[in-house]
Amino acid sequence: MYDQNNIFARILRNEIPCQKIAEDEWFLSFYDVAPKAVVHALVIPKGPYKNIHDFISNAEAERVVCFWKGVDTTITLLSLKENGYRLIENTGNNSHQEVPHFHVHILGGQDLGPKLVKS
Ligand code: AMP
Repeated sequence: MYDQNNIFARILRNEIPCQKIAEDEWFLSFYDVAPKAVVHALVIPKGPYKNIHDFISNAEAERVVCFWKGVDTTITLLSLKENGYRLIENTGNNSHQEVPHFHVHILGGQDLGPKLVKS
């Protein structure tokens, strides 16, 4: 079940502001409010999808393609292609997903170090 009141749904309804990077009819990208790198952006589809499986299973093909083009557009606008970046998508409890609306994190602007730090 998709939570219509999650924070990204509210951003899409313009109920709360965001620092927008790019937008079209399919996606919205904006800066993460608590950045974990020099550049930390989020890309979300404009539709009620709680995670990547929900999105791939239930969104029409054009929506899926245009979302990933939105990721590419955002990376280009942030000038991250030359030095590289990292994409993260969290799903479920083990990943500590906080917001139940499918989103991709784009991290860059610095050396990001190893993928995971062992605890
Ligand atoms: P995740 O753990 O993958 O669900 O990540 C959710 C991300 O959303 C976190 O990195 C938060 O810092 C970020 N976040 C939460 N609320 C907002 C907001 N209002 N604007 C921008 N980013 C947000």
